[in-house]
Amino acid sequence: TAPLAEIDPEVSAIIGREMAREQDGIELIASENIVSAAVLAAQGSVFTNKYAEGYPGKRYYGGCGPSDEVETLAIERAKKLFGCGFANVQANSGSQANQSVLLALVKPGDTILGMSLAAGGHLTHGAAPNLSGKWFNAVQYGVRADDGLLDYEELERLAREHKPKLIIAGGSAYPRFIDFARIRVVADEVGAFFMVDMAHFAGLVAAGIYPSPIEHAHVVTTTTHKTLRGPRGGMVLTNHEDIAKKINSATFPGLQGGPLMHVIAGKAVAFGEALTPDFVAYQKAVTANAKALAETLVEQGLAIVTGGTDSHLMLVDLRPKNTTGKAAEASLEHAHITVNKNAIPFDPAKPAITSGIRLGTPAATTRGFGIAEFKEIGEMIGEVLDGLAKSNDGTNDAAEAAVGARVKALCARFPIYR
Ligand code: PLP
Repeated sequence: TAPLAEIDPEVSAIIGREMAREQDGIELIASENIVSAAVLAAQGSVFTNKYAEGYPGKRYYGGCGPSDEVETLAIERAKKLFGCGFANVQANSGSQANQSVLLALVKPGDTILGMSLAAGGHLTHGAAPNLSGKWFNAVQYGVRADDGLLDYEELERLAREHKPKLIIAGGSAYPRFIDFARIRVVADEVGAFFMVDMAHFAGLVAAGIYPSPIEHAHVVTTTTHKTLRGPRGGMVLTNHEDIAKKINSATFPGLQGGPLMHVIAGKAVAFGEALTPDFVAYQKAVTANAKALAETLVEQGLAIVTGGTDSHLMLVDLRPKNTTGKAAEASLEHAHITVNKNAIPFDPAKPAITSGIRLGTPAATTRGFGIAEFKEIGEMIGEVLDGLAKSNDGTNDAAEAAVGARVKALCARFPIYR
């Protein structure tokens, strides 16, 4: 068949612009990564044509032989990767993986306890505008004001007071290890299920450099596209047979129809990659790079929430530079460094403005950046933010242009696809 550029030049040109954006800029969004050409190929395969409602061996459509094979492979690889007895790989997203747990284990109106969005939790852990906050009595714990660390005492107090049916740990902007064993103790005490959403740090868990939640939680959810470096999607893991059955029926027919078989093929490829020694080396580099970036930012006069990071991400407090997350995100983007504004704990600024940015190293580490490159990135971020701090009208053209040229030169040395 003719290439996309001939059949649909308009879409082809847009994809070309996205490719150029990813190639020529530094991606520091902590939830993003750059998948392998093999994952792209699996996702772009003929499996996109196939309906396969049901599970391997029990489908509601004919012609599911290869679908059964690829889904079984994805499941077996996921189980091996995380050392668990059950995996459902059909969730179309991390949010749907979390919804499948809510549908399987609790009822609307039940109390659930999760980390608040403002403290670094995820929308699906009980935030007011999300289904989890609208359909459940969501109680939220946070982090401590003095050091930004998860407030275990508050979590335990709220658990004893509200007796939730489900306690959720994990988040989108929490940079430190979480003491899963400690949370399980209080979950058992109050008779709650314990769910860990390891979406952000799943790749680190797979590589054995972040404590695994599998033995502590009743059920573990994840996305497959962050540190795990697979296609966009979700997954649910457990070692409890009764929960496994409920998760399967909650996913299909509870929430979803036909699974995205092309994405499941991509998941199988990514899990295969994650089982190799190269992946462990990659995750070690991700965390070493994060530490180097955090240290360089401190040298640049910035503050890091909790004083550093145990993982792939960090939360930068911009107040020492007298600027906001909104202004920093925009100015850094002009210099081709992509970040997202993010509230810091107890942020005095509005959610659309914020006093912080969240940075992560997974994507840039995938393209080959090491400690030297991340130190340079830290210096360049410092230069852009110093320019903003000095500006009295919000413009920062000189620093953006100078850093933009350095970013371009750096990126040219590290092609994202060869
Ligand atoms: N859980 C956590 C901790 C996340 O950070 C995210 C995504 O940001 C999700 C769940 C939701 O994933 P998705 O965007 O695939 O719905």
